[in-house]
Amino acid sequence: MGRITLKNVSKTFGEAKVIPSIDLEINDGEFVVFVGPSGCGKSTLLRLIAGLEDVSGGQILIDGKDYTNNAPAERGLAMVFQSYALYPHMTVRNNIAFPLKMAKMDKAAIDKKVTDAARVLNLTDYLERRPSQLSGGQRQRVAIGRAIVREPSAFLFDEPLSNLDAALRGTMRLEITDLHHQLKTTMVYVTHDQIEAMTMADKIVVLNRGNIEQVGSPLELYRSPRNLFVAGFIGSPK
Ligand code: ADP
Ligand code: MG
Repeated sequence: MGRITLKNVSKTFGEAKVIPSIDLEINDGEFVVFVGPSGCGKSTLLRLIAGLEDVSGGQILIDGKDYTNNAPAERGLAMVFQSYALYPHMTVRNNIAFPLKMAKMDKAAIDKKVTDAARVLNLTDYLERRPSQLSGGQRQRVAIGRAIVREPSAFLFDEPLSNLDAALRGTMRLEITDLHHQLKTTMVYVTHDQIEAMTMADKIVVLNRGNIEQVGSPLELYRSPRNLFVAGFIGSPK
């Protein structure tokens, strides 16, 4: 229910070939991290999967079905943005409920989904607060809650922790991996932070200038980096 296949996917902006050609299989339930330096195409690749950008070539399959030309809402995936994307004037409850209200779900069903998401995220006591009355970590959990209620077949995270301080980032890393263990839903997580990649991923995809340098588990990349770029980026001893 959350297998994502990229076949020969490319993206060009004007003259710039930002992603020359990517083939990648993301298995159902896997926690996959795209890691690489700033500007290497991580966000672009995630946005292509989400349907927020059109591919220039190639195919995107979800559970074997071609979704290359489908709108974002038809893909059953949920993008988690940084917490500053919350609506400041709405309560936590209404922020989490927002996508369901947009989908015109009935109120009782919305209430149940929000209650369930709040329980998973330890936000039950904060539902009537506004984002300004929450800590940074709580705000990030609300942003995740807004994705959870849609019951996506995969979560797509774009550097969700980059505006949090170091201590909070550590806590949130654990919370997101714990959430993955609870939900067992595919997660695709973009970061430029090697520590996040090494501690959170089942599978790391190392990107450099829009190309995949190596794909493997954290241990595989650490023990057997294919080249100096991977070794340097992962911090392994090659
Ligand atoms: P990352 O997320 O790894 O930092 P991005 O995917 O945001 O990298 O960007 C990859 C490259 O594509 C960069 O050179 C960036 O300037 C370029 N780029 C991204 N989005 C656009 C766009 N909408 N128009 C033109 N160039 C873009
Ligand atoms: Mg980015």
